[in-house]
Amino acid sequence: MPFTADLVCRDLTKEFKGFRAVDHVSFDVPQGSFFSILGPSGCGKTTLLRMIAGFQFPTSGDLLIKGKSMIDVGPNKRPVSMVFQHLALFPMMDIGKNIGFGLRQRGVPAAEIKQRVGRVLERVGLPGIENRQVSQLSGGQKQRVAIARCMVLEPDVLLLDEPLGALDLKLREHMKIELKALQAEFNTTFVYITHDQSEALVMSDNIAVMNKGKFDQIGTAKELYYEPANAFVAGFVGDANRFEGKVTAINDRLVTIVTDGGITRQAQAAAELPIVGQRALAFVRPEAIQLSKTAYDSATHPNASAQIVDSVLFNGANSVVLLRDPQSGETLHAGLPQTGDFLGLGKGETIHTNWHATQARCFVAEGH
Ligand code: ATP
Repeated sequence: MPFTADLVCRDLTKEFKGFRAVDHVSFDVPQGSFFSILGPSGCGKTTLLRMIAGFQFPTSGDLLIKGKSMIDVGPNKRPVSMVFQHLALFPMMDIGKNIGFGLRQRGVPAAEIKQRVGRVLERVGLPGIENRQVSQLSGGQKQRVAIARCMVLEPDVLLLDEPLGALDLKLREHMKIELKALQAEFNTTFVYITHDQSEALVMSDNIAVMNKGKFDQIGTAKELYYEPANAFVAGFVGDANRFEGKVTAINDRLVTIVTDGGITRQAQAAAELPIVGQRALAFVRPEAIQLSKTAYDSATHPNASAQIVDSVLFNGANSVVLLRDPQSGETLHAGLPQTGDFLGLGKGETIHTNWHATQARCFVAEGH
């Protein structure tokens, strides 16, 4: 079989004085793809990226780029380049000198540097800005220059350490699309770390969800969103309502749970099938919840219930209604349908909700 992965990590582990920050992580990144590592603060993302860059030595495991082990290769000899959150552009140098810096370090002749800097600036959509100062650029332009400074070195793998983290929301939204387009333009393997799931979902060909030093799941955005492998992924990727309770019945893969507030819910077992009496968690996406002004027939709609409106969070197409169960006090949030039927909903009103059990995912609760 032809070898197509640019980056391969095998059982990569990093321990700091007995604390395992990265715990036997294995993955392959195909050439020219956008791979994100998504996880909460402290899960080990930066440590993993620093091992790939060569700034951190693994405790065990192997790391290959284009089929060659990098374990004994120093950071400046690896075919990787890294974009940092604060970009680290040199303020005293103009743009041309910033981008040409790495080439000068490598002893590339001045005429060739000039040519390559000009070419890479064109490719990031900023032709002819060699003589501008860093302070004269917008936040988005600085991002592109930081990427150009790496790409001029023609790395096999570009590592990006939360490069959008310091930008304001609007620019971040714009840069997501731009980064994806730049990656396609260069056709270089990008490894991107972030704790922001919307960045990872929008840009990546594949995403690894990292939790406590381990990869819980690797998959496409759609796989993680619709088929989460465990409760952590279901709760971390995308928005979801979460219920916890005791399993009272199982029919094929449909699990009935009675929540701690005494409400009966049905969901589909996502992974391991629980057993009756066990504690389980269920997740349902806000957009999977149907709203109605009239009651659903509970005999045919096992997840139907009457809810009280707590508030409506208007946000155009992403508007959400916050609901409360009048008996148990359990809360639920649902997407507001764009039909206009529910625009007049007000606090304290009663509304009926339902969802198909096959659209909710159920997992055995940890430790049960
Ligand atoms: P963040 O998103 O906040 O940057 P992260 O997912 O990148 O977090 P890491 O920086 O990789 O997480 O840290 C993982 C764990 O390893 C943390 O508990 C951290 O305290 C610990 N850690 C990282 N570097 C060291 C070090 N040099 N010595 C000891 N512990 C460390």
